Amino acid sequence: MRYLKHLSLLLLLSFFVGCTPTPNLPRNNDESTTSALYERSFEAHFPNVALLNLFFTQMPKGGDLHHHYSGSLYVETYLEWVKNKGWFIDTCSFKIVKTKSNEACKTLSVDELIANNTLYRKLLTLWSDKDFDNHSHEQLPPDSNFFNTFGYFSPISDQYMDVGLNIIKERALNENVSYIETMLSRVGVNSADFFSAEEAKNINNALRHATTQEEVNVLLDRISTVYAQNSAFETKVASFIKELEKRHEGIDTASFTMRYQTYATRVVEPLQVYTDLLSGYKAVLSSPLVVGVNIVAPENNTVAINDYTLHMRMFNYLASHYPQVPRSLHAGELTIGMVEPKELLFHITQARKIAGAQRIGHGVDIAYEKESLALLKELKEHAAIEINLTSNEFILGVSGKEHPYSIYAAYGVPIVISTDDSGVSRDNLTHEYVLLASRYHPSYATIKTYVYNSIDYSFLTPAEKAKVKMQLDKKFEVFEKEMSALAKSLK
Ligand SMILES: [Zn+2]
Repeated sequence: MRYLKHLSLLLLLSFFVGCTPTPNLPRNNDESTTSALYERSFEAHFPNVALLNLFFTQMPKGGDLHHHYSGSLYVETYLEWVKNKGWFIDTCSFKIVKTKSNEACKTLSVDELIANNTLYRKLLTLWSDKDFDNHSHEQLPPDSNFFNTFGYFSPISDQYMDVGLNIIKERALNENVSYIETMLSRVGVNSADFFSAEEAKNINNALRHATTQEEVNVLLDRISTVYAQNSAFETKVASFIKELEKRHEGIDTASFTMRYQTYATRVVEPLQVYTDLLSGYKAVLSSPLVVGVNIVAPENNTVAINDYTLHMRMFNYLASHYPQVPRSLHAGELTIGMVEPKELLFHITQARKIAGAQRIGHGVDIAYEKESLALLKELKEHAAIEINLTSNEFILGVSGKEHPYSIYAAYGVPIVISTDDSGVSRDNLTHEYVLLASRYHPSYATIKTYVYNSIDYSFLTPAEKAKVKMQLDKKFEVFEKEMSALAKSLK
């Protein structure tokens, strides 16, 4: 009996420790030599990160599915755009201003700012995560530092969007990425243009007091009817698509594809959240370039916390009307201590069970969810999980053995590796793979599975997926040939 107890404990432990799914057997010589080269990075006591950097820079990485447009551009790009516009930086607030002033808070041109190393370095810490951890300085809590960055560069981020998309594409090509699915922006419909302040107040109140899906549905029906009867709503969606098509010109090539998600911001009033979601759904239905809808912004924000289930019910309502529209949801980007324990019990569960998300962004709080075992089964069968290691470490302080990657991997939940906001984090997709390998040492075969997952679980059409995967097969052939040659050259 005691022996059996030990045995079951051992089995349970091996589930958590041996978290690598069974690798597929290498299919050819180059592939097995590549796999052996990869394993060589782990021969010493510490992983050979330099070799992993080289390995993953070259490796074809398929797609980046959890990617925010404005958070993916580096500060240097934004400053160049501020300069192009002839705008200035306020040296007290470090915000962009359009006119020069010599009052208490001096404004500087970009060149003047960069010439002052102290001010420039300070700006880098506010507009990105740069230098947060490597020296002592006055700083906000990391999650505030991270999310505040968007406020600094938002006045400029959509001013040169066509240029920005090309920069993202170039970076992708340089690190052998074939597909980017970026969260671009809201569609931009403002509920205040359609509802008076008094009407909005009553609707928001009613939505927040609705306690069942049915009650929410009745209210959303009424809002949807107002939008359906007002052609300005449709016009706004159409102009969003037209603008996007213009910006997208020249982006897709034979070997690179970019598609877009639109989103709602979860920290605003419910009527506006629903307006963003409905217009997002309409955008997906209107253009093949827009492939999915998301919900963004800090999940631990008070409004986001209080309205969480309501937001999931909005997705549920929209899914029942437009089941063909894909959705990926930020869910479970939380951890113990960040919010009350009761808030950790249900976010991923509701994102899957109520909102029907096909992909979950982050999913860090899985271990704390009340129905985590049923949820793992549900996710394995019906959804993929977007793993963002750098972002989780910075915002949530969750990394290494605390990160639930090991649970998802061991259970067999489909995983994709993504960047979240590589401009704010000052990294790239390669770095995410290096972190994954150096921390968890999944097999080469498992890593290849993640790469193919990033196309299989993308919101591309089946024909587009087949095309990208065929190209990926060829890219891996070349990569493995090169790595095989490298392995032979290394002593
Ligand atoms: Zn994100």
